[in-house]
Order: sequence, then C-alpha cells, then structure tokens
Amino acid sequence: MSKSYIGKLARINLSTGEIKVEKLDVDLAKKFIGGRGLGTKMLYDEGVATVDPLSEENKLIYITGPMTGTRAPSSGRYKVVTKSPLNNMIGCSNSGGVWGAKLKCAGWDAIIVEGKAKEWSYINIEDEKIEILPAKDYVGMLSVETDEKLKEAHKGCRVLNIGPAGENLSLLAAIMNDKDRAAGRGGCGAVMGSKLLKAITVTATEKVVEAHDEAKLKEVNKECLKMIKENGVTGGGLPTYGTAVLVNIINNTGSFPTKNWQGSYYDKADDISGETLKDSYLVKNAACHRCPIACARVVDVNGKVCGGPEYEPLWAYGGNCDLHDLNAIDEANMLCNEYGLDAIGTPCTIAAAMELYDKGFIKEEECEGVPLAWGSSKAITEWTKRMGEGKIPLAKLMANGSYRLCEHYGHPEISMSVKKQEMPAYDARGIQGIGITYATSNRGGCHVRGYMISPEVLGLPEQLDRTTIEGKAKWCMIFQDLTAVIDSMGMCLFSSFALGAPQYAALLNAGTGTEYTPEELLEVGERIYNIERMFNKAAGMKPEDDRLPKRLVDEPISDGPSKGMTTKINITLPQYYEVRGWENAFPTKETLERLGLAE
Ligand code: SF4
Repeated sequence: MSKSYIGKLARINLSTGEIKVEKLDVDLAKKFIGGRGLGTKMLYDEGVATVDPLSEENKLIYITGPMTGTRAPSSGRYKVVTKSPLNNMIGCSNSGGVWGAKLKCAGWDAIIVEGKAKEWSYINIEDEKIEILPAKDYVGMLSVETDEKLKEAHKGCRVLNIGPAGENLSLLAAIMNDKDRAAGRGGCGAVMGSKLLKAITVTATEKVVEAHDEAKLKEVNKECLKMIKENGVTGGGLPTYGTAVLVNIINNTGSFPTKNWQGSYYDKADDISGETLKDSYLVKNAACHRCPIACARVVDVNGKVCGGPEYEPLWAYGGNCDLHDLNAIDEANMLCNEYGLDAIGTPCTIAAAMELYDKGFIKEEECEGVPLAWGSSKAITEWTKRMGEGKIPLAKLMANGSYRLCEHYGHPEISMSVKKQEMPAYDARGIQGIGITYATSNRGGCHVRGYMISPEVLGLPEQLDRTTIEGKAKWCMIFQDLTAVIDSMGMCLFSSFALGAPQYAALLNAGTGTEYTPEELLEVGERIYNIERMFNKAAGMKPEDDRLPKRLVDEPISDGPSKGMTTKINITLPQYYEVRGWENAFPTKETLERLGLAE
C-alpha cells in the first residue's frame, strides 16, 4: 500500500445496521486520485445515478483525498458525494476544517453510508471502532449546539452534522462540520436527513497521515509554502481580509450583481467589504488543517463569537438583496450555519423572493408580518430563520431554492440559477469566462468548478481580458480539470492562486508514490470531469441544462463599469464542447476511449 492512501473504507448500512470494512482499490484510486474523482466513480459504479435522491437507494460517500490529513499545506479537505436532490445530478460538495483530516487519521479513506435508519441515529467513529447510536436527544437542535453536545458525549471528537434544515429535507440544506465549515451545495444535508442520520463524530489517535516519501514531501512543501507566502492573494489579501477581499475588487469591475442580478454595481459595496469587516466585527482569523493562509474569519455577532461570512454571503445578502447592513449580514450568515443552510443558495433565494415581491407576484399576506422588501435587515435574518425552520408555507417553498420558488409563481426566469442551483457572486456578463464555468458545471451554478476569476480579474497565472471571449473555452477547461485534481487530492482550491500543476504533481507523487507529470495530472482531471458528466447523462441530464439564465443573455448590464454587456455564451459554449471533445453536451466515444472511460 502506498502511504497517503490508508487502503480501507467502511460501508455502513443504516437499514440493517451492518458495518463492513472494504479494501480500497488503489489502482482505481490512482486513476481518479481520491476525493471528488474517486467518489464520483464509486457512486457511478454503485448504480446510484437513476435512483430518487431522497430514497434509501441513494448513498452518501464521505471521502478524503490522498493528501488529506498529511503535512501538505491546506490539506484538510473531504468531499461528500451523492446524487443531488436539488437537481437530480451529481451532488459533490467539499468542506475544510479538520473533520476530514481526522477521518483519515482515524484510519479511513472513505465511508459509504447507505439505506435508512429506523430512527434518528448518528455514527460514532473512534479509530477502528465504528458504531451506530441513537440520536433522538439531538433532533431539532441547531447545528452548533449539536456539535457542542456531541463533544460532551465523545471527548475529543470532531463533529459533522445537519441542522434543522437537513432534518426538514430542505433542498438547500448543508452538511456542517467543525461548527462553521460547510459542504453547502446541492442539498447534501437533505440526503442525510432522508436517512435519519443526524451526525458523524470522529476521534483519532494519530495526528497526521504519513506520506509515501516524507523527505520528498518536506522538500516540496518548502517550495510550496514559499510560493504561498510570496503570492499577493494567498500571502496578503486572503490572510488579511478573508475571501471578503473580493467585494471591492469585483464591484470595481462592475460585475457585482445587485437586486437579484438586475444591476451589477453597488455604490455601498465598501460598507460590506473585507476591509470594513476587519475594522468592525472581526475577532480573529481561523485556519483549516495545516493551512498557512488562514482565510477563515471569526466575528462578533451581537456578543456571540462565531464563524464570519465569506465573500459569497456578503454579496448575496448584501448587494444582491440591496442591503449594506454588515451586522445583519453577519447574523444571517450565522443563522445559515446554525440551521445548516447553504450560505449561497439561501440568500440568493431570498433575493429572488424580493424580486417576486417587488413585482407583486408574492403578496403581502404571504409574508406573515415580514415583507420581503429590498434592503430590509429584518427580512434577511427572519426569512433565513424561517427557511431553516421550514414551518410557514412560503418559507417551506423558499427552503427548496429559487428555481422551485420562481416556478411556483410562474416566473422561472427570475431564478438566477443553472441546473436549479443559484449562481455565485460574479456577473457572467461582465466576466465572460466565468459564464462558461457556470453553464457547464456538472453540479450546477458554481464558481469553484473552474475559477476563471483568477485569470480574468486577479491576473493569475496571467491577466486575461474579462470582456473578450477569445481562448476562454480552453482556459475554462484547463481550470476545470486542474480544480478537479485539487479537489480530488484533498487540498484547498485557494492554494491554486500560488501553486500550479507542477507543484500539485510533486505533492501527489511524494504523497502516494505516483509519477505523474503535470500534463498527465491534467488528463486525470479531464477524466474526472468526464465521469461526472457521464453520471449526469445517466441521471437524465439534457443538453439544454447547460445554459445561463435568460437575463444574462438578453438584458445588458444596466449600470457601472460593465454597462451594456451581455454574456456571449451562445458563441463560447460550442467552442467549449469542441475543445472538450464533446458533442451535444456529452463526451464522444473517442473522448471516452482516450480517457479510459469507454467501459
Ligand atoms: S485557505 Fe481558507 S478555506 Fe482554504 S484551507 Fe486555508 S483556511 Fe481553509
């Protein structure tokens, strides 16, 4: 067994209570690396693509990458891979903190959870020991409180859990770990809820996972740490201001959507920026497992010290809801963490509801005392809470995301989503390449499946013109494939502002004993992107699912530095299919054969 792969996984059947230890197929692992890649391949092979995502036939794979828990920088990531109940496609969400590193240190590459418990349960892992325990005492508890109570029951454990939103099967439900880290997208919290699985606790004796070649890893680490420290984003912007550093940067490009993407420049952006957050509510920085960047924020919300907002919720509750009350945004973000809600999908759905209310489609009486008015602090906090509780009819509807909400009112075009998942904080009209990422993302509207903001705005690894489309399809493919590699290794994507394919290949080779060149590693990323697409095909995805909302195609940006721009996705999408070797949104036979996926 090459180190960094533990070599074993646990299969836990909640219906029968059976727990089986299985061997990791290391050859397969090397072909798909681990994490996102291997998890998707395993889910595909388990025949899950055609099942109802909220039925007991769906499975949850909690999977680490070969670098998770090692001495490599920013290596605390795990993935949850499942069939998404939000859009019936691949559901794959990743989270940092330390829970994933602990799972690996406890001796598991992955755990596969299947079936459905007869009563609310949780899984307790203590190194080799795995047990299923009753969770009735924790049902209905907020996520943060559940974390604290389970730590009292299992001293020294780390906790992953769902809040009330997951229990209520909200399609925006996140899986939370380490209190404020979230596998937030795709509704994976609802899949846990559907299995009556409240939490997974992990206690590990080991502190770190040994690499195949520790001396080599040390040498590569040294180079990587130097690059991370010297890079302006990972060594300056992120540690100082967190991801919120992007508020002013993106707003200054005129690609900061406002009022549910009706505008794209927010004149009050500085009130909700990373700079203002640092000067007002910031208590300290926080870091995931072995991360030298420490981008996470800890803030004071009305006397409560808790995890602070990332760039995305700052934008989504802020400019997108026409609100510049930073304290209210901090509070709404905290409520997302406590109820276990996606901190992108939830505020974006509130923004869509505000537009529906503004246009008279949602009536005053449906709002039960809290009008969904633009710029209302009370609306964002109260409706987040209501969505988490899932009690009143409109909140229940909103808790299933903007697409279903807008469709219910007869205006699906108001939902700013792709594949039913809300798009994040970058206007694809003002930044052309990110539109290709959104449209073709296998899990729906998402920026961390090919972060084209890096070259188009931040100038990393080189500056591209955000307003043009030349060469963007190829760039997007490279970013998507490299991201698939990083996600599969168990590392944080933010490290890629400083590191590139040569450094990731060197880290992986030291960790596992593989001998990948940077080019070969990118081909592994391509294989991963294609297996995800094949999962979606088997799940019923149609070519027309690769689309952007009509507003981005037909309505030019109304204000700011990108005024007059629309997306050119109708030109770039065919170019993208060509560079990918796809026809009509799916890989050709030749592409599958080239990538070793023909079977
Ligand atoms: S960069 Fe931020 S999110 Fe990534 S591992 Fe470090 S602290 Fe965690």
